[in-house]
Amino acid sequence: MRRKLAAGNWKMNGLAASLKELAALAQAITADDQTGILICPPAPLLYRASEAAKGTGISIGAQDCHGDADGAYTGDISAAMIADTGATHVIVGHSERREAHHEDDAEVRGKARAAHACDLTAIICIGETEAEREAGNTLDILAGQLAGSCPDNATAANTVIAYEPIWAIGTGRVPTLEQIVEVHDHLRAKLIARFGDEGHAMRLLYGGSVKPDNAATIFKADNVDGALVGGASLKATDFAPIITALQ
Ligand code: 13P
Repeated sequence: MRRKLAAGNWKMNGLAASLKELAALAQAITADDQTGILICPPAPLLYRASEAAKGTGISIGAQDCHGDADGAYTGDISAAMIADTGATHVIVGHSERREAHHEDDAEVRGKARAAHACDLTAIICIGETEAEREAGNTLDILAGQLAGSCPDNATAANTVIAYEPIWAIGTGRVPTLEQIVEVHDHLRAKLIARFGDEGHAMRLLYGGSVKPDNAATIFKADNVDGALVGGASLKATDFAPIITALQ
């Protein structure tokens, strides 16, 4: 049995006052052994979020890290710095970073490797554009991104894969359950082919316009082990019912 994961990506949203949502979430949800809860706030909040989350069962993650351990990279954040805040996870290769910061699979793979070296769990994001889907290339594109973005040392403990169709992010549009099943089954087969039992045990999240009213349908897919949620993770009142749908 794979442990499920409900992950919230706050993106560039949230100030210190937003940390009250962690307490509200902890109050609304009973963390259990079957379902992990993760919040990824903006970097300036990581330390305070980690402190605030202590004893709640909620884990804290960052939204990006640099691939190098240290160096002259103004404005960047290393995996060690993230671990130093008390955070345990880091998202790498989000489509917003691939697009706005021109990150390719090799760079994402380097970031995941850097995360692993600091005992952080890397949440590696992949996803097709609408044009790629319309051209019928979705499965090939995703297989290529998965192969290129996953380092060889990936295990079920240190790596989570998030499938986020770019056209579904922040748009309110969601693939059909059949489309989600097709992709997640395909990704599972690729993971097993490369990593064997570890690939079977690795979590596969779906992300893109997950909301309280569509979460239960999305979670019906066998190979959907949780969600990476953007907008609906900002408020405990929205995120709690999504977590409940997973539990
Ligand atoms: P939304 O849930 O706002 O569509 O964002 C998804 C996402 O990009 C999570 O990383």
